[in-house]
Amino acid sequence: MKYLKVKNSNEEIPIGKIICVGRNYAAHALELGNEVSEFPVIFLKAASNVIYSGENVIHPDYSENLHHEVELVLLIGNTIKNGDDDSAEKAISGYAVGLDMTLRDLQKEFMKKGDPWTLSKSFDTAAVLSEFILKKDYKLRGDESIKLWVNGEIKQNSSIKNIMFDPIKIVKYISTKMTLEKGDLIFTGTPEGVGRVVPGDKIHAEIENIGAIDTEIIK
Ligand code: MG
Repeated sequence: MKYLKVKNSNEEIPIGKIICVGRNYAAHALELGNEVSEFPVIFLKAASNVIYSGENVIHPDYSENLHHEVELVLLIGNTIKNGDDDSAEKAISGYAVGLDMTLRDLQKEFMKKGDPWTLSKSFDTAAVLSEFILKKDYKLRGDESIKLWVNGEIKQNSSIKNIMFDPIKIVKYISTKMTLEKGDLIFTGTPEGVGRVVPGDKIHAEIENIGAIDTEIIK
């Protein structure tokens, strides 16, 4: 079982479900040839996929195209079902930096066939996290920079103000489809600049005032 790492907290909270939003930055949707959606695109990762900054991403041997996607991650602090703006805001208890590691070749193949994306998004080490910062310790402004470097070269460089469905809209929307509970995580989507990484590559990712991730891709 995987547990949350939270700054200034020793509470042991197991990670619940991991819900991810796709195509939440228009420039990223367009770079992959996808349309901008009217509703958030939602998929899941397994809690057992999680590793933390400082641990290594294992490149699956059944893919030729592992991609990095840096994302703002929301921590859910209490149960919410059919939330409104106020209860959605209250249900978000913290934030982290996340990497939604993606097997782009498998994903494209699944999309072509109309099959679920699951195995392109959920595999060991597919969800890399920084420590969470609690909302009581940092209030999100909504325009923090979000950046990712591979081997020191900047690849993704945007602002979370470019998110189309903001954290409150996302939590509200998901809570109309499934109950969210304490320990659930929401990956809120990646800006443009995603790309391939191979064994030996070193990733550094940051969201201003939230945290940072360092990880290396290994075989
Ligand atoms: Mg993503």
